[in-house]
Amino acid sequence: GKPRVVVVGGGAGGATAARYIAKDSKGEIDVTLIEPTRMYYTCFFSNLYLGGFKEISDIGHTYGGLAAGGVNVVHDWAVGVDRDAKTVALAGGGSVPYDKLILSPGIDFVDGAVEGWDLSAQNAMPHAYKAGSQSELLKAQLKAMPQGGTFAMVAPPNPYRCPPGPYERVSMVAHFLKQNNPTAKIIVADPKEKFSKMALFQEGWNNHYAGMVDWVGSDFGGGEVSVDPGAMTLTIDGEVTNVDVCNVIPAMKAGRIAELAGVTDGNWAPVNAADMSTKADADIYVLGDASQQGDMPKSGFSANSQAKVCANAVRGALTGSKVFPAKFSNTCWSLIAPNDGVKVGATYEATQEKIAKVDGFISATGETSDVRKATYEESEGWYTGITTDMMG
Ligand code: FAD
Repeated sequence: GKPRVVVVGGGAGGATAARYIAKDSKGEIDVTLIEPTRMYYTCFFSNLYLGGFKEISDIGHTYGGLAAGGVNVVHDWAVGVDRDAKTVALAGGGSVPYDKLILSPGIDFVDGAVEGWDLSAQNAMPHAYKAGSQSELLKAQLKAMPQGGTFAMVAPPNPYRCPPGPYERVSMVAHFLKQNNPTAKIIVADPKEKFSKMALFQEGWNNHYAGMVDWVGSDFGGGEVSVDPGAMTLTIDGEVTNVDVCNVIPAMKAGRIAELAGVTDGNWAPVNAADMSTKADADIYVLGDASQQGDMPKSGFSANSQAKVCANAVRGALTGSKVFPAKFSNTCWSLIAPNDGVKVGATYEATQEKIAKVDGFISATGETSDVRKATYEESEGWYTGITTDMMG
């Protein structure tokens, strides 16, 4: 029969890989995508939803386009991988055979990463680091804050999904509060000394939200953090603060199925840069956030870029089609205030050892409002482009 590719996870990495393999192999390869949700909410632009720039429906995407493109979409959880039999077990029972298996499950949280918090507390203190109901919950809590109340964030340690994500979120929350609750305060407890685009965010917070954002980095004790979801308190270095909303973003690791497949080493799955195959198993590939690949940040743009390299290599391995040298790129845009967009990005190549950065760029502080507006508009074009590239 035809060669079989199974893809686990229909997000930025998995949906792209499934779509490209089905499209480019023109029916020569059977492609099955295993994804539990019927609607994929992008984390990208979920901060803009918090800020009031998008509706939740704007960031939700169905799998009908992939199915129409020839991908066999199975809405279920993958719960195990038998590497000898080459099958993936489904939560609903049964198993799916593969010749090549691509895992792009995104992230899970490291147990015990923030003292006082675990998944059972995610309603009292949402992470909103997987989009959808968690994003809606955080927005509802933001809207319900009393006048002059306190919004707290516990930021994650490196490495984590979307390096500028927490700080874009602070900006979007500040924008919402400036409009609706101007005497409210934002506290950020951060285990890091510095963060992505720090100078740009701090410039923006001073310009747009003066006096509202109190960022406490590890230099100042932000590393010593605990929360009490029952009492709604945040404790930094022994000092207890009552908070109205507490967005806890814990330390991250590869989505659990990567660990169950036995392709992780520590928190992440090491891969070969040329094709995204794992170091542990040449027939299992890991894309996106779950992979440990080298210099690329964990972003949707990166996952999509890695997926195309992987799709080309997998197709070549199964059908003998031409395989092109691996090239990758990434840009992370962030919105600080209306029409005030900034970006950071780079191009990459595959070396023996890792995905290695070739060249990069970053927005400058003090740019004109025209430049910042153009940067924001670029991000809108990117969003339409990547979601179409993923979902068809
Ligand atoms: P995901 O896109 O998370 O997809 C994983 C999928 O796997 C999910 O649909 C999940 O349901 C499924 N899955 C998990 N386990 C299983 C299983 N066992 N069986 C079956 N399916 C499973 N990136 C950007 O490029 N630009 C941005 O502006 C940006 N902004 C962001 C803002 C925020 C607030 C956050 C949190 C992230 C942002 N990102 C951004 C990062 C981006 O969302 C991720 O890097 C990207 O989604 C990673 O793609 P992925 O395929 O690895 O995982």
